[in-house]
Amino acid sequence: MSGMNTRNPYRLGVSLASARSFYPTLRVWRYGTEFGGGFRFLEADPTKPEDELETQSDYSFNELADHLLGLVEPIRLLTAQELERTGFSEGFGIKEDLEPSEVVEFVNRFGQIGLADYLRLAKLQRKFTIDKGELTPEQALALLEIPYRFLPILKKSYKEEPKRWRSMIRKIQDGDLIPFAWIQKDLFDLARCIQILLALDKNYLDNKTYLTLPRMRSKELRRFLFASEAVMLPKGEDENYLPLGGKKGDPWGVSERKIKSKWQEFAVNLNRFLTPITYNAIRREEGALTYQKTLGVETWLIYEILNSRASIIEKKCARKSCQRRFVGYRSTARYCSDTCSAVERNRRKRERDRSKDSSGRSQKKKQTKGRTNAKKKTVR
Ligand SMILES: [Zn+2]
Repeated sequence: MSGMNTRNPYRLGVSLASARSFYPTLRVWRYGTEFGGGFRFLEADPTKPEDELETQSDYSFNELADHLLGLVEPIRLLTAQELERTGFSEGFGIKEDLEPSEVVEFVNRFGQIGLADYLRLAKLQRKFTIDKGELTPEQALALLEIPYRFLPILKKSYKEEPKRWRSMIRKIQDGDLIPFAWIQKDLFDLARCIQILLALDKNYLDNKTYLTLPRMRSKELRRFLFASEAVMLPKGEDENYLPLGGKKGDPWGVSERKIKSKWQEFAVNLNRFLTPITYNAIRREEGALTYQKTLGVETWLIYEILNSRASIIEKKCARKSCQRRFVGYRSTARYCSDTCSAVERNRRKRERDRSKDSSGRSQKKKQTKGRTNAKKKTVR
């Protein structure tokens, strides 16, 4: 896949191997911490033998995309109160951290995420030092994205419990333990990729997908700017919000450089997520990470959406009290679920009945049970 940078417009060609049908790997993951809580991770159930990896296949990509968009909140501008509380300056955006229990629920239902990026994994495999080929605590800190203040604990463990230290590093190398920082980053990036894929129109050339982004003011550019989070929405605003005033000649106040870098970021993410099916199928002896073991929801979802000829788009539920983001077919669907659709239908019917009822006597209110707005369900 490559990003071509001609003057107009941005273009991205995607050539996918005609992959045999595949599905995300499904293992049982649990959340854990190490080094005084500095290192957070998901660990695969060690009692399950890995030569019997199961796959998840009983859902559609729409369903997975819906749950992903429900799990990851879009980036947004801080509110006035939040600015005051945190002391950040105006224009600062926030992305809510993910709740580990929700992530565990997600990966145990749909499949794993976080192992598709072979380059990131390879950095851990590399022999760093000449003596034992081991990671130093400093290197581990950087690669596993552990906050700096935990370095003394890491150093202590490295020195005093070398066996435990090595076994943990080995588990990560083998893909049986995934740093939570990687998982969160990949979930955020995957959600962004999906938003962008749904915002852009797909084109085909010789049956191969390509994506273009006009640089001129257009609905598509506008959708891309929001989807790639080059522009943030203030809390409570929807996509009809118009922040993009900009100077003259400046497309909506977003610099060409920023648009270009967001476009490249998109290409990089597509590449790293598709690695398990695009990577030359040469198995490296070292590490011995097999194709299926690294194959998660990120690869499958991107592949399915790129391969689908259906015209799909990200929508927001038309029921005011819900407004959940969902993936729908372009023209018809207005509600995120049958429940929301039924609730709205009942509401409209009641309104009609009320206006027909000219005598004005009060009607008994029907109890309707809709989907609650509480997205977050915590499992313990
Ligand atoms: Zn809804």
